[in-house]
Amino acid sequence: MQVKGLKEAMGHQRNLDPDCLFCRWIRAGKAVETLGTVAAFNDGYPVTAGHLLIVPLRHTADGFSMTAQEVCDSEALIRTLSEKISRSDLSVTGFNIGMNIGESAGQTVFHAHIHLIPRRDGDCANPKGGVRGVIDGKRCY
Ligand code: AMP
Ligand code: ZN
Repeated sequence: MQVKGLKEAMGHQRNLDPDCLFCRWIRAGKAVETLGTVAAFNDGYPVTAGHLLIVPLRHTADGFSMTAQEVCDSEALIRTLSEKISRSDLSVTGFNIGMNIGESAGQTVFHAHIHLIPRRDGDCANPKGGVRGVIDGKRCY
């Protein structure tokens, strides 16, 4: 995917934290796509091929501290990206979308982000329950 709106995105690069991984990705122009106040990056340890992270273009700790505009832009970017992925990779038959908020919930990078995880028929033995799998043994019901 091509980097789009990079110039516009630069305008949102305020309050970046040099100690934060995602701030460094923003500064280094590693976004695969941007929309207004947010950008998408490839996850370095993808759960499935095409796993993306949707990230505000300013340092803020977690999903609850995202502004209404960042939430709105994220939703639009997720829709655009999921359509692109589905069109370009016909093996993709579903998605998981989710946020880990707080260390107890599994958050490891404290710069807000939304996971967009493409899913394919047969990519695991039994997909039933999806994001319920955040607690070991509770995914299937
Ligand atoms: P979370 O656990 O929700 O905070 O998600 C953080 C995401 O960042 C994970 O999906 C990781 O794969 C990704 N990640 C963490 N550290 C690195 C790194 N050094 N390089 C690339 N991706 C990373
Ligand atoms: Zn940051």
